[in-house]
Amino acid sequence: MESVIVAIDGPSGTGKSSTSKAVAAKLGLSYLDTGAQYRAITWWMLTNGVDTDDPAAVASAAGKPVIVSGTDPNHPTITVDGLDAAGPIRTQEVTSQVSAVSAVPEVRTLITGLQRSIAAAAAGGIVVEGRDIGTTVLPDADLKIFLTASPEARAARRSGEVKGSDVAATREALIKRDAADSSRKTSPLAKAGDAVEVDTTELTLQQVIECVVTLVEEKRAAG
Ligand code: C5P
Repeated sequence: MESVIVAIDGPSGTGKSSTSKAVAAKLGLSYLDTGAQYRAITWWMLTNGVDTDDPAAVASAAGKPVIVSGTDPNHPTITVDGLDAAGPIRTQEVTSQVSAVSAVPEVRTLITGLQRSIAAAAAGGIVVEGRDIGTTVLPDADLKIFLTASPEARAARRSGEVKGSDVAATREALIKRDAADSSRKTSPLAKAGDAVEVDTTELTLQQVIECVVTLVEEKRAAG
């Protein structure tokens, strides 16, 4: 089977992670969660006393942490300096600071380099999910998908994932993070011109997975 590179971008709460993992597992591909890498570097900054609202401080510390991503879709892992970071990168504190850290060009250059080397090493192909994969990280990806959903649907999904959170507060936080990610100067959240847009508002996760699997299979058959 031909190796295939699939880029899946979109804002938070569109089902990117669940879809990407399931598609990769189903098709025997590797999987990379690029948001987890930006969260990991943010977590390192916070635990090492770097002021995440100071872009110069973030830029000068950006090269210090060693971030390693495991790409098995059935068991994705992330470590920072050898420590398991899977839990700590999902805290509210990291979520509220990650957009500031990911907007710093030095951070993006380093993480983008890491992402490209992981994609190049994935022999059988890979599904890479994020915000700028189709536009910047892997502009030559074989297939680009851009997932969208209404703010209400996205907030409801995220609230379901985070225990005890209320939908209105989640909605506000999501809108704020998307606005920051979309308006930053360096590789903002954007749909690539040649990406296929899938609106997931009215679809179940299973339907989105089937839709993307079909698109990958069509691409493989054509290529
Ligand atoms: O996907 P997730 O919500 O975990 O992403 C966390 C944050 O990482 C995003 O809000 C964004 O600031 C940043 N990110 C990015 N580029 C990517 C993936 C994530 O800037 N390719």
